[in-house]
Amino acid sequence: MAPTYDALVIGTGFGGAVAACRLAQAGLSVRVLERGLRYPKGSFPRDWSNPFNGWLWRYGQGLFDVKLLPGMSIVQAAGYGGGSLIYANVHLRPPAETFDSDWPEGYSRAALDPYCDLVAYMLDLQPITASGRDLPTKTQRMREVARKLGREQQFFYPDLAVRFASRGEPMPNKFGVPQEGCNGCGECDIGCNVRAKNTLDLNYLAVAEQNGAEMTTQAEATRIEPLSSAGYRVTYTDHAADGAPRTVDARRVFLCAGTVNTTELLLRCRDQWGTLPRISDRLGCRYSANGDFLAFAFDTREVWDPAEGPTITTSLVVDQGQGKDKTWFLFQEGGHPGQAAGLLQVLDLGRDLRVPADLLQKELVRALRRRSPSESDLQKQKGRFQAVFLAMGRDRANGRLALRPLSGDMEVRWDVPSNLPLYRTQEQLCQDIARALGARAVFNPLWERLHIPVSVHNLGGCTMAEEPAYGVLTPDGEVHGHPGLYVLDGAALPASTGVNPSSTIAAVAERNVEAAIREALGHPGWTAPERAGTPSGRAAAEPFRASMRMSTRVAPPKVVPREDPMRSVVIPEGGTVLSPTPVVGLRFTERMRGFIHPGHEPVTDYAGAEHEGKSQGRGAEFTLTITLTNLDRFLAEKAHAGIAQGTVHVHGLTPPGGAEVERGVFNLFVDTDSYYERRMLYLLPFTGLDGEQYLLDGYKHVRDDDGFDMWADTSTLYTVIRRGGDRGSPAVASGIIRLGMPDFLQQLTTFAVLGTTSPVAKAHALKRFGSMFMGNLWDVFARTKLE
Ligand SMILES: Cc1cc2nc3c(=O)[nH]c(=O)nc-3n(C[C@H](O)[C@H](O)[C@H](O)COP(=O)(O)OP(=O)(O)OC[C@H]3O[C@@H](n4cnc5c(N)ncnc54)[C@H](O)[C@@H]3O)c2cc1C
Ligand code: SF4
Repeated sequence: MAPTYDALVIGTGFGGAVAACRLAQAGLSVRVLERGLRYPKGSFPRDWSNPFNGWLWRYGQGLFDVKLLPGMSIVQAAGYGGGSLIYANVHLRPPAETFDSDWPEGYSRAALDPYCDLVAYMLDLQPITASGRDLPTKTQRMREVARKLGREQQFFYPDLAVRFASRGEPMPNKFGVPQEGCNGCGECDIGCNVRAKNTLDLNYLAVAEQNGAEMTTQAEATRIEPLSSAGYRVTYTDHAADGAPRTVDARRVFLCAGTVNTTELLLRCRDQWGTLPRISDRLGCRYSANGDFLAFAFDTREVWDPAEGPTITTSLVVDQGQGKDKTWFLFQEGGHPGQAAGLLQVLDLGRDLRVPADLLQKELVRALRRRSPSESDLQKQKGRFQAVFLAMGRDRANGRLALRPLSGDMEVRWDVPSNLPLYRTQEQLCQDIARALGARAVFNPLWERLHIPVSVHNLGGCTMAEEPAYGVLTPDGEVHGHPGLYVLDGAALPASTGVNPSSTIAAVAERNVEAAIREALGHPGWTAPERAGTPSGRAAAEPFRASMRMSTRVAPPKVVPREDPMRSVVIPEGGTVLSPTPVVGLRFTERMRGFIHPGHEPVTDYAGAEHEGKSQGRGAEFTLTITLTNLDRFLAEKAHAGIAQGTVHVHGLTPPGGAEVERGVFNLFVDTDSYYERRMLYLLPFTGLDGEQYLLDGYKHVRDDDGFDMWADTSTLYTVIRRGGDRGSPAVASGIIRLGMPDFLQQLTTFAVLGTTSPVAKAHALKRFGSMFMGNLWDVFARTKLE
C-alpha cells in the first residue's frame, strides 16, 4: 500500500517547524506529530505550588522536560513550538571561523547567511534597543559592567524574537496571527502568556497549517521502520487517548525531536528494535553541550530587577588564545520571573548540603519541594538583587550519547577535564562580573560538587558528514543508508556553535529541507516563497502529486539580508582582556591495590573479606587521575570534591586491564559528626564485563583511635562493590584496597598545578593544598593529644 503522506515531521521545535512549513508550502501532504500540548494564549502553567501541575514533562504532559542524566543535566521543552516556548528569544549567527573545521563541505557562514536571513524574516528579529522604550535596569547595568571591566568593545545587543509593539493590544503579525506587544514581565523562560514572544506556533507552524499540514499533538513517536515499498511507518503513543499505540505511514520522515530525543529514538531503532540497522556507528558521537555554563549572583549592590524585560538582552564576547588553545564564548545576563526568586535562593543553600555526592541531585529536588509555595516578602525583596549568568561557548563536542547496556537508559559521556579551560574562563568572568556588581557569585551546585554541567543548548549526536564512517547524516541531513529519512534538528550539527544555537538549527533546516523538496519535486530551483518573493514556491514547480493544493496567497515581501549585531564587536590583537581572577586547580594520579571477596557476610567485615579475597587471589585495584578544578572552591567547600577519572579492575567483574571509571567523584576529608574524625570518599562507577553498572564505593576513615596510625588511616580504603549506580544499590563484594608506600612516592611526583604558569603561584597552590591536608590530619591526630 502506498504511504498515506508525502512527508511526516516528528517534533515542532526549530527544525520541525521549518520542515513542516516548507514541505506544506511546496504542496506536499504533511502530517506532524508533536508529543506535547498546544499552548494557546494565557495557558502556560503558573501554579507555583505543584511542580507536576503542567510544569514537568511526565506521563505525556508538562512543559519542561528536565533530564538529570548521568554526566549532564539537560533542560528542553515539550509542546507545540518546541524550545521556542521556553527559550530566551536570542538569535545569533556563529562567527565565520566556526565552520572552518568539523562541518561538511558546502557549509560556511556565507553559504548559511541567506537561510539565517530567512529565519530572521520569519521570526521578526530585533534587538531590545528597537523597543522604543527605556532599557531594562539589568540591561543598563550590564553595559556599565562591561565598561568597568574594559570589555565595552565586546558588548552588544543580540537580536531577539520578541514583538515590541504596543502592550495589551492584539495585532496580527505578518502571517495573520494576533500577537500583543511585550510588557516586560520577564517570564519568557516559562512561556509568554500574552503572545509577545514570536514563538514558532505563531509563524512557521501557522504557515504550515495555512498550507494544509495536519498537526497531531500529544503524539510521541516511539519507533521508525522502513516499509517494503518506499517510505517509513512511524509508531506513536497517543497521550490524548490514554497512551494508545498508533501508526502513520509516509514517503519521507523528518525527525526533529531535538538533540537528545532524536538520537535516543535512532539508537533504539538501530540497537533495540533493529528496524534501522544500517545507521552509522557514529550515532551518539560528537555530542556537544555548546559550552553552557550557569551561575548566579546574589546580593548585588544596586537593584538588578531580574523580572524586568525579556530574559536576555545583552551579550559579551570573550575571545582568548590561538589555535587549539583558543577559548571563545559569550556571556549573557539572565533574568527570571519574580516568582522564581525563592527557587534560586534554594540553589544558593545547595552549597552547604551535607550529603554524599551521589545523593545531591535528589536532595536538591527535595529542598526545592520543601520550599514554601508562596514567596515571603523578604525573598521577593532579595530577589530584586539577584542575577542569573549564562555563558555558552565552543566546547570540544567530544561527548557521546549512549544507551546503557542492560537497563537501556540514556546516558551522556561528557569529558569535563578536556573542556576545563573553557569552563574555567567562564567561571572567572562570572566572578569578575559578580564582583563588579558588588555581589557574590554562586555556581550551580551540581557543577560545584559533581562537575555535572547543565545544558539547554545541547547539539550533535547524529551529525552530518560526507561518509558514514564520520557521521550519521549526509551533508543534506538524510540518514546514510536509509533514504527518505532525515534529521533536521540540533542533533545534526557537527560542532558547537558557541552562540545560542536556534538560528543555526533553523537555518540548516531551511537549507536541507529545501534540498529535500527539490529532490521530491524534481525541481532544482525550488526555494521558500519568502526567499523567492513568489506567492508559492510550488507555483513554478512541476506538480508532484495529484493531491497538491494550489495556493492563492499573496506574494510575501522578499527577504533582505540582515545586519549581524555581532559585527560591531572588536577583538583586540592578542585577544580580549584576561581576567584578574585566578582560577588555579590541581591534578594528581593515585594507584591503590587490594583484595575483595564476593558475597562476604557481613559486608562491613572488611578485614575478613580482604583475607578471604587474598587467599583466593581476588585482586582489586584502580589508577585514578584526580582533578580539583578550582582549588579555592575545593578548599572552601565542605565536600572538598574532585573529579576522578581512570580505570578500575575488580577480579571477575572487569577485564584484567580494568574498566573505565565513569564520572567518578573523590571527596577529601568530609566532616563527620565528630570533630576528630574525617572521611575520604571514593565513588567510582563502572560497567562490568556482564554489561551491568557497578559502583566501587570506598571510604578511608581518618580518626585517632588507640594507636597512632596516621599512615594506615589515610591509606586504607574500606571498599564495597555495589551492583547499580548509587550507594543504595546492593553490595556484591567487599574488602580493602590500600595505598602502598612505593605507589605513594610515585603519586607525589604526579602533582600538577593547573591554570597558571607562574612558579610562585604553583608553589603557593601546592602549599595551600598541603596545609589543608596536614591541617586536617593535625585536627584528627595531634589536637586530641594536646587538648
Ligand atoms: C530555558 C531555555 C532557554 C533557551 N534560550 C535560548 C535562546 O535564547 N536562544 C537560542 O538560540 N536557544 C535557546 N535555547 C535552546 C533552544 O531552545 C534549542 O536549542 C532549540 O529549541 C533546539 O531546537 P530543535 O529543533 O533541535 O529541538 P526542540 O526545539 O527541542 O524541539 C523538539 C520538539 O520535538 C518534540 N518531541 C521530542 N520527542 C518527541 C517524540 N518522540 N515524538 C514527537 N515529538 C517529540 C518536543 O516536544 C519538541 O517540541 C534555550 C533552551 C532552554 C531550555
Ligand atoms: S518579557 Fe514578558 S511579555 Fe515580553 S516576551 Fe517575555 S514573557 Fe512575553
